[in-house]
Amino acid sequence: MDAISRIKTAHGDIRTPALLPVCALTYGVWDVFIDERVIPPWNLSEATLFSLEYVRNTKYEEKVIDGFHRLFKEKKPIFVDSGGFQSMKKGIERDPIDVLRFQEKLKADVAATFDYPVPLNVETSDYMKMLKKSIDSANLALQNKQRKEMLLYSCVHGFSEKEIDWYFSELDEGFDGYAMGSLVPRKNDYKTLIQIIHRAKMHAHERGKPLHIFGVTGFPMLYALSFMGVETMDSWTYLVASIYKEYIHPQTLKRVRMRKTGSIPECDCFVCKELDMEDFLGATSVPQAYLAIHNLNIFMREMKLIKEHMDENSFEELVEQKSKHNERIKKAYEYAKAHVGEKGRQRI
Ligand SMILES: [Zn+2]
Repeated sequence: MDAISRIKTAHGDIRTPALLPVCALTYGVWDVFIDERVIPPWNLSEATLFSLEYVRNTKYEEKVIDGFHRLFKEKKPIFVDSGGFQSMKKGIERDPIDVLRFQEKLKADVAATFDYPVPLNVETSDYMKMLKKSIDSANLALQNKQRKEMLLYSCVHGFSEKEIDWYFSELDEGFDGYAMGSLVPRKNDYKTLIQIIHRAKMHAHERGKPLHIFGVTGFPMLYALSFMGVETMDSWTYLVASIYKEYIHPQTLKRVRMRKTGSIPECDCFVCKELDMEDFLGATSVPQAYLAIHNLNIFMREMKLIKEHMDENSFEELVEQKSKHNERIKKAYEYAKAHVGEKGRQRI
């Protein structure tokens, strides 16, 4: 299914498919990035996803409250999530309008509506209530949006094609895009993920709007989602791996514990070219930042390869090549190919 090739925002276009690094301003490593002691993630990507709950009530709030773009030398699009997932984990319930105003204050270029992500093992009756709350919250935000330049994406949830159909039918017209959540607990069930994401993609496509996928993008899904025409996706694997001193191997694309191997694999990214293993291993935030940026470089390299091969109609060859080292890429792609082939032309 065709993707929208550019998403226009107040701070430039996002060329798709695009991977947005997740920035959660909670760790010491962010001081290093904000001060640019190490090149920050937002310099390397088309756009960046900031997580609202990781800004609110932190020491960084003051720095960004009148606009996230103050952090950047180069102005680029910022996507601010609603913090629904973190709120759920913390047991806090936010007011959807209050969240919207905060996103507007931060001068988000794209904002997602406040939602109520559904964990696993929730009773069906509670589950449908949560879905309805997310729908009401999205429609309420749409009616109350004040900042014209900000694109508003409705959050989307649902675990079957039928639920996704119902969810879209309950949403008002006028959203600038859609962002799908509640996928993290199911992140290894590629088959279900692909099925429901494809359904959401069809609805977004029918409305001529882009789709964002929250939280499930490792390398296999990066390949599958790009193939399916999903416009944007996010990942913080680069950062989480760096906390555990894990290095994304440039060939296998798997996480490697540095201390176990006692060496770093050969990598020609701009971080590795300059540094030795010791530079990555220290206990301070700078080595962690280097490691995170190496990891992000690998994600960005793959994203670039995907785009190039899509343009040249050789995507399948790229998948074959990558699957020699990482069979899960092929597995996710095969599901996507079979599913899109089967359902691609079907009318909703
Ligand atoms: Zn590297």
